[in-house]
Amino acid sequence: MRTGVFGGTFDPPHKGHARLARMAERACALDQILFIPCARQPLKAGHPEASAAHRCAMLALSLDGKANWLLDTREVERRGISYTVSTLESLRLERPDDTFFLLLGEDSFDNFARWRQPRRIIEIATLVVAKRTQNNKKWPATLAWSDSTIFLRPRPLDVSSSGVRARIAAGRPWESMVLPAVARYINRQGLYKQRRSG
Ligand code: ATP
Repeated sequence: MRTGVFGGTFDPPHKGHARLARMAERACALDQILFIPCARQPLKAGHPEASAAHRCAMLALSLDGKANWLLDTREVERRGISYTVSTLESLRLERPDDTFFLLLGEDSFDNFARWRQPRRIIEIATLVVAKRTQNNKKWPATLAWSDSTIFLRPRPLDVSSSGVRARIAAGRPWESMVLPAVARYINRQGLYKQRRSG
């Protein structure tokens, strides 16, 4: 099975996440994608704003209708700081015959050398990188010590979770940045109304 692994804070999940997943699915002929919300991201200051329960619920709503897009809660269950290498090691043990593809945006890719055990990560998974914003950076970039990276065709959708949160807190329009079911959930639960740092 060709399995996509898509980790993130998903605070909240937005249309940029969905575009990355769709593009990777097509480009890499993925059989399924595991969406894995983190408990806490090692390279982000502070804690996620919404609880793990809310983030999982929103992610579940974003996957609705796609039988091969699955919510995987191992990182929130593990608690603490979520290291991708630990997640991939556990997946490798559970699914010895799968081929893994790790989905990420260019900002995460730019930081990849700072992740825990990046070389082990690329032993387990091929990186699949999406452009996030329109900029003049060379694309595809190169990773000196890895040829196991796929750069998706640049079709950036400049949406971020922090942008959604900031707009909600400021009372500016944000609904079009997320899927309708997620927008309804955020409104119903009254999420992100208080501006918070971190
Ligand atoms: P924040 O704005 O709070 O930092 P985020 O929008 O980057 O959050 P995450 O859940 O942290 O969202 O992102 C998970 C993964 O999805 C990361 O690898 C990130 O680069 C990628 N990603 C997020 N938004 C986009 C986007 N618009 N296009 C492509 N990749 C994206």
